[in-house]
Amino acid sequence: MGPSAAQVTLRGLCGGAVHLPGDPAYDLARTAWNTAVDQRPAAVAYPADPAEVAALLRAARAVGLRVASQGTGHHADALGPLDDTILLRTAAMTGLSVDRAARRARVGAGMLWVDVVDAVSPLAALHPAAPDVGVVGFSLSGGLSWYGRALGLQSNAITAVELVTAGGDAVRADADHEADLFWALRGGGANFGVVTALEFALHPVPEVHAGLLAWDAARAERVLAAWVDWAASAPETVTTAARVMPAPGALTDLRGRQLLVVNGAVLGPAGAALAPLRGLRPEVDTFARVPAAALARLHLEPEGPRPDDGRESLALRQLDGAGVAALLAAAGTGGLELRHLGGALGRPLPTGGAVSHVDGAFLLVARPGSRGLFEAAAPYATGRRYLALTAGRGDVSAGYDPAAWPRLRAIRAAVDPDGLLVAGHPIPSAREVAPKRAPSRRQGPWPTV
Ligand SMILES: Cc1cc2nc3c(=O)[nH]c(=O)nc-3n(C[C@H](O)[C@H](O)[C@H](O)COP(=O)(O)OP(=O)(O)OC[C@H]3O[C@@H](n4cnc5c(N)ncnc54)[C@H](O)[C@@H]3O)c2cc1C
Repeated sequence: MGPSAAQVTLRGLCGGAVHLPGDPAYDLARTAWNTAVDQRPAAVAYPADPAEVAALLRAARAVGLRVASQGTGHHADALGPLDDTILLRTAAMTGLSVDRAARRARVGAGMLWVDVVDAVSPLAALHPAAPDVGVVGFSLSGGLSWYGRALGLQSNAITAVELVTAGGDAVRADADHEADLFWALRGGGANFGVVTALEFALHPVPEVHAGLLAWDAARAERVLAAWVDWAASAPETVTTAARVMPAPGALTDLRGRQLLVVNGAVLGPAGAALAPLRGLRPEVDTFARVPAAALARLHLEPEGPRPDDGRESLALRQLDGAGVAALLAAAGTGGLELRHLGGALGRPLPTGGAVSHVDGAFLLVARPGSRGLFEAAAPYATGRRYLALTAGRGDVSAGYDPAAWPRLRAIRAAVDPDGLLVAGHPIPSAREVAPKRAPSRRQGPWPTV
């Protein structure tokens, strides 16, 4: 059978960087960072600039296909089936410029945080815990960093978004232009256009102490309860996370053991801030003064593509000793992670976007299948989800303040009335019912990528 009319139309776009099912490069081109997700789009395209993005969007509309943007595919589990969709991969939109005097960076949509953190040094960007996460996907969904309690969400640091709308127009949204889009993009990202570049503020951080403290998991209940108490009054210069997890590979002496690990950063002297935790006599204490760029690898996340179960998250108002015990019992050997919220992360920013803060004292993060754990957390929950750390199922509106949701839906209806754009966390236009999207999973053994 010869190529379809749609395939003929798509073939010549993006300087030939369009891969159709059956092409030799299709399998590599469609592979996400999360190799557990078997994405099989109608085509994969690698546009290099806004003009190529616009041409692709127009062609998609003409042949009756939809378009999903993807940087790395860290969140590929949220996208769902793509058989009627062109996967627009942003990797060819590179470029990074840093204006140190103005403390600002402009970053192409294909860049990863690992590209940015060294380049902006000694200034700091509000990057995630894993260095190979994409700058755009993280920034548009909120962005919890090790600087968060002092400096807020990365979405608040965005000063301009360059994008191509579903109608094929290249626009720049900032504080003075496209006010609705600028608001909606900072939290609702993929629903409002294909972002081609971002500008965001950088921060001077003259002194950073960072590292981890570790205890045997047998002491987890006592130590986690103490961390929860400490976190309630810790200075805003400190942002930490507590995890029950197998010893990371870097801790060779503890290999094979289950640990309670507290890691994070202190913007300033660490001594007084960490004294209550150090008083609990951790077996490992690596906290030291480090360059800001070292924070990119603080969480000891393995880098590069791999199968990943995905994540579910729930913001918690507060926790007490009974809550800690219930969470640990429910987590069992499956592990759990609590991220320390509060401080600037909890303060709404009037000039911010659709997600300018996250209410709550802690964010519980665990595998999507950890039902017992989320049930144990329910009495403490604010009801708010953090969508960047949430797989695509469930109520997307719970990722936003109630007042933001109708405004997001109205803006979606105005800028993408036919739903050309596919987003991992879809915001239905004011006229639509939210679509149900089930993630597709690879059957059988994981491939090596
Ligand atoms: C190991 C790991 C560690 C993490 N650590 C943190 C953390 O510390 N803090 C935190 O807040 N989050 C964290 N996350 C979550 C992460 O921020 C989100 O998964 C984020 O969406 C990933 O962005 P990406 O571009 O790499 O992924 P992708 O899957 O490529 O994209 C994610 C979403 O953004 C959209 N998108 C991407 N590029 C564009 C574009 N150019 N235009 C429009 N839409 C676009 C996609 O359509 C998709 O909906 C982590 C995730 C993992 C897997």
